Amino acid sequence: MSQATVHLPVPRIPRSRGARLQNNPVDGHKRVLLAAPRGYCAGVDRAVVAVEKALERYGAPVYVRKQIVHNIHVVTELEQKGAIFVEEVDEVPEGAHVVFSAHGVSPAVVNAASDRGLHAIDATCPLVTKVHREAVRFARDDYEILLIGHDGHEEVEGTAGEAPDHVTIVNSPEEADTVQVKDPSKVVWLSQTTLSVDETMETVNRLRTRFPELHNPPSDDICYATQNRQVAIKKVAKDADLVIVVGSSNSSNSVRLVEVALEYGAKAAYRVDYAEEVKQEWLDGVATVGVTSGASVPEVLVREVLEALSAAGYEDVEEVRTAEEDLMFSLPKELRQDISGQRDTRALGGRTGSAAS
Ligand code: SF4
Repeated sequence: MSQATVHLPVPRIPRSRGARLQNNPVDGHKRVLLAAPRGYCAGVDRAVVAVEKALERYGAPVYVRKQIVHNIHVVTELEQKGAIFVEEVDEVPEGAHVVFSAHGVSPAVVNAASDRGLHAIDATCPLVTKVHREAVRFARDDYEILLIGHDGHEEVEGTAGEAPDHVTIVNSPEEADTVQVKDPSKVVWLSQTTLSVDETMETVNRLRTRFPELHNPPSDDICYATQNRQVAIKKVAKDADLVIVVGSSNSSNSVRLVEVALEYGAKAAYRVDYAEEVKQEWLDGVATVGVTSGASVPEVLVREVLEALSAAGYEDVEEVRTAEEDLMFSLPKELRQDISGQRDTRALGGRTGSAAS
């Protein structure tokens, strides 16, 4: 079997252990407010376990179209276990196993994999699949769909691909002021699952000003995990001199957490992949540090940030919890069929201790 070319949208920066942070004096008591929920969501957990199970079941290599979830650490670990990440299915050898990422794929990708004789395992998050179904249904009823989301994001490409003749992407509140529709009486909005709740509502309000008959989706498209992490960081941010969000640069929900923290009162907020990216100067004069992580981030990376902060004198860690989460998704059906009968909680998409938020 020939090796496929690996293309990743995020540059691979090797980890370099930076200098230990200094414990410099500040006015006030040094402490950390640790947001909860944070970290892995049910859809990410299921997708990562799906790749691991596929490797166990079929052996390496297992191919994965796009990053299985948007986290460089997770991708690197799966590569070490034998996953090969590709951009498109035409890079996968005929007849091989390929996993579709948590962000979902358009029907065109499913068909391309089938034409190539690939054994596809669909790890699309069920909450993304729900939005795909809404797009199909509204297109069938001849609605024009205004899809609020980031043009070029894999999830948006997948959802738009369900009904390309009916979907127009709205990238921002500003675009809501200019987007054109054919029939303002038959328009519905849908959204990417990982957006800022507040910004999306602003976009919807601006759309409704122009199209008063705008239909709402049947239920929230922004998923429970995105919403919960934003609510938690809002509560932390108002008391934080600095917020550190653990997450990768291509993780939409992680980037949104930085924006939400700044909007809700954090004096400064930064995103890091790894603890060693925390800069000494960020801590100048900082008494309270807020910490959270995006939905694709394993808890071990948060612990490393807490250890680095502890060395700088931030040993007092208080968890600020705004919701409990216990949602779990079953594994993709292709794997359930193959490993049925095994009693393994991870086979149900359950969280491990290290990954739980
Ligand atoms: S962030 Fe939400 S939509 Fe995305 S994988 Fe997690 S639960 Fe699913």
